[in-house]
Order: sequence, then structure tokens, then C-alpha cells
Amino acid sequence: MNSEYNVDVVVIGSGPAGYSSAFRCADLGLNTVLVERYSNVGGVCVNVGCIPSKAFLHIAKVIREAADLSHQGVFFNSPVIKIEKLRLWKEKKIKSISSNISLMAKRRNIEVILGLGKFITSSSMRIVSEKKISTVYFKYAIIAVGSKSVKLPYLKYDNPKIWNSTKSLNMEYIPKRLLIIGGGIIGLEMATVYSAIGSQVDIVDSSQVTLPFLDNDIVYTYLKLSKKMFDYKSNTSILNVEDKDSFFIVKMKNRDGKIYVNKYDNILAAVGRFPSTSELNLDLIGVKLDNFGFIKVDDQQRTNIPHIFAIGDVAGKPMLAHKGIYEGHIAAEVISGKNVYFDPKVIPSVAYTDPEIAWVGITEKEAISKNISYEVSIFPWVASGRAIVSNSSSGLTKLIFNKVTKKIIGGVIIGNNAGELLSEITLAIEMGCDAEDIALTIHAHPTLSESICLASQIFQGTVTDIP
Ligand code: FAD
Repeated sequence: MNSEYNVDVVVIGSGPAGYSSAFRCADLGLNTVLVERYSNVGGVCVNVGCIPSKAFLHIAKVIREAADLSHQGVFFNSPVIKIEKLRLWKEKKIKSISSNISLMAKRRNIEVILGLGKFITSSSMRIVSEKKISTVYFKYAIIAVGSKSVKLPYLKYDNPKIWNSTKSLNMEYIPKRLLIIGGGIIGLEMATVYSAIGSQVDIVDSSQVTLPFLDNDIVYTYLKLSKKMFDYKSNTSILNVEDKDSFFIVKMKNRDGKIYVNKYDNILAAVGRFPSTSELNLDLIGVKLDNFGFIKVDDQQRTNIPHIFAIGDVAGKPMLAHKGIYEGHIAAEVISGKNVYFDPKVIPSVAYTDPEIAWVGITEKEAISKNISYEVSIFPWVASGRAIVSNSSSGLTKLIFNKVTKKIIGGVIIGNNAGELLSEITLAIEMGCDAEDIALTIHAHPTLSESICLASQIFQGTVTDIP
């Protein structure tokens, strides 16, 4: 069966950037279709990224918190994990989120066309699925096709024991010994999950330290706190992976020449993601890419072809769902005639590890490299009543202020719920708050958010004595 559509806007890709943009287009009165190659809408984020990883990280957190309670005299037996039930629970939650997105599209009269979309001209697109071929003629296109995992050339991905993040989230079984290659956010999050459910996890990374853009005090605090969960080998490269059928023998070498030879049941490669532009026929219509393969856009998300926009992972870093959602709204509004720009002061980031690490704005490292006159204020959670009674006193809140204007320009939190707490700092930076604005805002007691207020009061000198 063949169909034809004449629309104002075609959005290609139903991830967070794509569906948010399509919804905004429809809400602004634009006749919109949404194209998705897979049968479940929601993209990487809903199906194989943010949501399933957070589902398992929730389980990991509960397991660890329950075990920690033994120090307070509350004992639980070791968890019994029925892996199939756990997997089905995750799948059910994903399905319900994906169905809600479909429902929200339907309510807005957005037709979701399933199939692989390719441009035929700069104003038409062909969408091919097993069942039908559709042709969409559009006034505007919004490309939101996301990204894919980088593959390591020396790993044989057809071996089911070699995982990328998607396979690791399938949760088919719990490997006894898991090697994670790549100690970035995804590698650390999966290490947090698998170590909690019983795997012995090693992470190997060729860089000097994990999350190298963060300040060393934060990174080393995290590595110290996570030591019990996994072994983190920095400055180490893989020399050889030998497949022995039921396990792998992996030979590694660190920068000092030390050789490790270890046995693993599974290997997860988490070494980054790249923009997935290759199947769109962009060459044909002349959409330009940058040197890293991202689609080049201006601050209204426009590509070099004025009626074609790009948003989300495919339009550049940081590859984060909330960045894509925000860009999606900008593209829709620009198409509808509004004079808006993508110009956030900051974009927050969170590693949902145990403990969580959340950061926004400028780090101390960056302030030094950019010659910004700054001052740091740290509130250690050991001085927070709430942190002490909830077993999180090893956390800390670190704020960076401009020394001259006293405005907050950055912040990092490491500890329980750091991701939730970060929003206050993000808002403060966006609003141009100075230390006094935060310090004079009454924060509820006892909460972990007081740590942000107290760090500001320390900066101001109104709090001088902490344990
Ligand atoms: P995607 O979500 O990648 O969606 C793109 C969609 O386009 C896909 O559904 C794809 O099938 C479709 N598509 C591609 N090509 C075509 C085509 N030619 N025709 C039709 N359809 C096509 N980010 C966060 O902010 N927070 C997190 O906690 C977080 N956790 C993550 C955990 C993991 C394990 C991973 C892998 C990623 C995580 N991310 C997280 C990153 C986040 O998933 C991405 O930034 C986000 O999904 C990007 O959204 P997007 O809409 O640009 O693209």
C-alpha cells in the first residue's frame, strides 16, 4: 500500500527531541507528521537509554540502601533476583511511556508513520516499511534521528556476549564477571547496575581519569565512594581479546607498562556515540555536517538549507535528552514564525551513579583555563543533619562564584539525589543570582537542598563554622 502526505512539517525520529518538537509544532497549528523506523516511539531515551537505565539504577539503589541498613540494626536477606521478572517489569514501564507518547501524538492529530525515512528531494521524503511506502511532501523538515553506539574495531559484535549499552539493558542474565570498556557516564551507570545485582565488574579506560572535565576533588571523591562496586583501571588500553567460547581472556596494559590478563563472561563497550545521519540521503539534498559528523545548525536549529532543521543528538553535543527537547521547541517555534533562539546559559548533566554526580555551568578547572576570577565554596554533607541520618554524609556541594560580581557560575553535587538538587543551581545561574539571593532564600530543614544555601552562606561569610 502506498500513501502520500502533504504537510507543513515532517519530523524524522521520535526520540525526546523529535516527539517534543512534533507536539510543539502541532500545538502551534502546524500540520505535522512524525516518522519513526522502529515500532515503538520514544527513541533511544525511552526504549534503550535514559529510562531503562534509570529503571535498573533504581533497583540497584534500593538493593544497596537495604544492605546499608545493617549498620542501623535492620537486616535483610541477600536479594533473590528473578531476572525475567525484572526484565518484564522494565519492558512494561517502557511500553507504557511509549504508548503515552503515541497517545499524545494522536490527541494532536499527528500521524506517526513507521518506517525508514530518506530524503528524495529537499521538499519530499520517502518512508519505507515492510507493509507500505509513504511519500511525504513538506514545507519544513526537522531532523531528529539521534545517535548510535561507537563500535570498537577489535570486538566481534555478532557474539551475543559482546554488548553495547542496548544489549546490556536487555537484562537477559547476570554475568559473573563483566568488563566494561569505557568509563564515561554510560559505563559508570551500567557498572552501578550490574555490581548491585551481583556481577564482579571491572572498568577499563585509556584516559587518565573518569569524567575528565570535572574537578579532580569530585572525581576522586566519587572513585573512593564507588571503590567497593567495581575496579576502575584508568590509563589502561586493551591489547587483546581472546574468545574462549564460554568466556573471554582479555589482555590489558596500563601507561606504566603493567600487564593485566583477566577472564570475563561478558564485555560491554561503552565508548561513546556518534550522530546517525548515514541513512537519510543528506548528501543528495546538500545538508552540511561538521567535522565530527553532526549536522551543522545555527542558533535557531536551522541547517544550511533554510527550511530544514536539526535537533537533539544529531545536532551536536551535549548528547542529552533535555538539550534535544529544548532544541525541538525552538525549531517548532521558529517554523511557526516566532523569533526565538537556542541560547541557554547552561545545560545540566547528571551521572545517575551511586552516589549521583550532577554538574552545571563552569567547573573550577574551566574557570582557571578561561582566566575567570572565581571563588569556590564547598559544603560537605557531613555537616548536614539530613545527610547524616540518611547515610549520605560523604556527599558534598561545591559552588563556583564569580569573585567580582558574586554571581553563581557553576556547581557540582555529589551524593544522594544530586540530579534533583541540581535544578536549583541551574535556575540560579539562568536567573543571574548572586550568592546573597541563594543565601537569603529560606530552604526547608532538614533537606539536602540546604547544602546549596549553606555553601552560599559560607561564600558570603555569614556561616563560618562547620564540622
Ligand atoms: P534518539 O532518542 O536517538 O531518537 C532518534 C530516533 O530516530 C530513534 O527512535 C531512531 O529509531 C529514529 N530514526 C533514526 N533514523 C531514522 C530514519 N532514517 N527514519 C526514521 N526514524 C529514524 N540522556 C539524558 O539526558 N539523561 C540520561 O539519563 C541518559 N541516559 C542514557 C543512557 C543510555 C544507556 C544511553 C544510550 C543514552 C542516554 N542518554 C541520556 C542520552 C539520550 O538517550 C539521548 O541524548 C537522547 O535519546 C537523544 O534524543 P534524540 O531525540 O536526539 O534521539
